[in-house]
Amino acid sequence: MENIDWGNLPFGYFKTDYNVRCYWKNGEWGKLEISTSEYVNLHIAATCLHYGQEAFEGMKVFRGKDGKIRVFRWEENAKRMQTSADGIMMAKVPEELFFEALTTAVKKNEKYIPPYGTGASLYVRPLLIGSGPQVGVKPAEEYMFMIFVGPVGPYFKEGFKPVNIQLVRDYDRAAPQGTGHIKVGGNYAASLRPADRAKKDGFASVLFLDAKENKYIDEAGPANFFGIKDNTYITPKSQTILPSITNKSLVQIAKDMGMKIERRPVPVEELETFEEAGACGTAAIISPIGKIVDQQTGKVYEFAKDKAGPVSTKLYETLRGIQEGVLPDKHNWNLIIE
Ligand SMILES: *Cc1c(COP(=O)(O)O)cnc(C)c1O
Repeated sequence: MENIDWGNLPFGYFKTDYNVRCYWKNGEWGKLEISTSEYVNLHIAATCLHYGQEAFEGMKVFRGKDGKIRVFRWEENAKRMQTSADGIMMAKVPEELFFEALTTAVKKNEKYIPPYGTGASLYVRPLLIGSGPQVGVKPAEEYMFMIFVGPVGPYFKEGFKPVNIQLVRDYDRAAPQGTGHIKVGGNYAASLRPADRAKKDGFASVLFLDAKENKYIDEAGPANFFGIKDNTYITPKSQTILPSITNKSLVQIAKDMGMKIERRPVPVEELETFEEAGACGTAAIISPIGKIVDQQTGKVYEFAKDKAGPVSTKLYETLRGIQEGVLPDKHNWNLIIE
């Protein structure tokens, strides 16, 4: 792959050679199939198309300094996809099938795993969709599980720099007792319009508040939020937040660094008191937040100017070092694919 400019790849779709697919019919999963097509042949009445019966995952594979291929905490993604399947009544993908699909998709596309030192990685996108026909609102009787992969560039091309976020009050991401806690496609269409407005207003992303009272911090677009103060890592607790595996890992690293952890409702006003703030997820690990600006009132909460705070930087560097095989993986988070 001499001709790929790894360091300048966007975070976007990139055609590779193979993807994998598996079908659930008559109450059981079939054999994993390897495909070279970028397309799926779907029934016109498939429930994923009409009623959003669909869940996805996102994970990354890294080529370490030692040349080894590492997958970060895949069991957590496999479990979360089962929780998502359960939440919208889809067939669950057994861990062994998830593992077989993941390792097959990665090995078959090994030449697309970016070299160490480029900041790029191989993004892995598992999908589970209701493929059987229904016209009434009912779960499908057939499902399809797929994984495609593709190289993605470093999230921060100009380095680890703070981004600005727009706090929105006139849009909600997920209903209080809805599906915010699972990674289902249905949650994301609702976030497109506020995200688009934020982009046009010059922000990198949005910050959603809780849909019930509009008082507490919920999610930072498709990422979890955290704040740092008094040697404490604080992250919101809410029924509508998607449990981020990156956040869970940062919590552990913060503990290892001797910090206190608080997972509780975080009122908007508390933003005033944070020394640092960030958004976290697989794509960027951490997006350090420079400013949060209230879309309605214009109120500005500032955390950093042109450089991320020391705690966010340490957390980011530690997690990245573990993923790339440069720092000791003391919690056994990486799977090495031979
Ligand atoms: C995927 C996702 C995250 C981040 O989860 P990770 O497991 O850290 O990648 C956070 N919030 C939402 C809404 C997401 O969809």
